[in-house]
Amino acid sequence: MKRQLCQSVQDGRIAHAQLFTGLSGVGKLGLALAYAQYIACPNRTNEDSCGVCPSCLQYQKLQHPDLHFAFPIVKGDDGDVCDDFVEKFRNLILENRYFDLEDWYRAMGVETKQGMIYEKESSEILRKLSLKSFGDGYKVMVIWQPEKMNATCANKLLKLLEEPPTKTLFLLVSEHPELLLSTILSRVQEVRVPRLSEETIASGLCGEYAWLGGDDAKAIAHMANGSYLTALRTMNESEDNQGYFDDFVALMRNAWLVGQKKDYSALLKLRQWSNDMADSKVGREKQKAFLQYAQRQIRENYIYNFACPEMNYQTEKERQFSTRFAPFIHEGNVEKMMDELGKAEQQIGQNGNAKIIFFDLCLQMIVLVK
Ligand SMILES: [Zn+2]
Repeated sequence: MKRQLCQSVQDGRIAHAQLFTGLSGVGKLGLALAYAQYIACPNRTNEDSCGVCPSCLQYQKLQHPDLHFAFPIVKGDDGDVCDDFVEKFRNLILENRYFDLEDWYRAMGVETKQGMIYEKESSEILRKLSLKSFGDGYKVMVIWQPEKMNATCANKLLKLLEEPPTKTLFLLVSEHPELLLSTILSRVQEVRVPRLSEETIASGLCGEYAWLGGDDAKAIAHMANGSYLTALRTMNESEDNQGYFDDFVALMRNAWLVGQKKDYSALLKLRQWSNDMADSKVGREKQKAFLQYAQRQIRENYIYNFACPEMNYQTEKERQFSTRFAPFIHEGNVEKMMDELGKAEQQIGQNGNAKIIFFDLCLQMIVLVK
């Protein structure tokens, strides 16, 4: 993709409106910005921009005077146009080029999830593009999540795309191009950004987390399904998952001890386990998340029996546990276990008594794990 983009610049084929599409977390925005930097760099090579000229340095800080942004905002005390929020937006990108709308809402510090590109922004876009460019290069308007434009704004943008001001470049970056007006879609050239390869994700993770082992990086990359954002989230959640893993192991081990080994001291441990899980400090969301995690582990352990590692999505620790535990998950109990865990999750969601729900789950597992 990068080679294609570079080649099109060298051939002088720069479409004035381009739409970068692809899954969340594959690097669409980063690629669009690198592309704009490449176009502006006077010393670019066949493969990349020079990275050291004044233009490149300004691009790297996202402070190039010909680089403009539009993105969804939540109107309020902080302002009502993108410029009022652009510092936060720049900082978010500089911190980590892989983020989604949720991250952006968090960075803006808003509770509501109703971000939008408002009508007023279209006049801002027009104003910025009517300015003379600083160099003799392109004025670049990066529109992140253009599907969040309200109808008036979208129609005004359409007019701009039909009759673009001279030397302007629109780079639209979208996760849901199907939500854009078909008239807009027909005026942009699509740049489909593919999923990242597992090798790319793993090497990215190892670069960012020096302490991360190669096998764990590979396991996380495998689970990330082509999205670096997903991989980063897995890293952040791994502490949580760590807790869930221990909880899951405790449930299964003690249930097996009671049911199969008639070790009734383990029953007391299960009683304690249910009380701990039901503790109000844990909270319903975490309780539900644990039950989802447990369902995923049951499924993974069942699949583990087919000895088909590329079908398994587990961390190294989970896989280790599966070498011993997987034989206890089979045709005879897998469905019932999933049912019971799903039922518990549902009941927690309906504000049922967590102590009773978790202990009842323990009793079911005692019967089922064998
Ligand atoms: Zn340069």
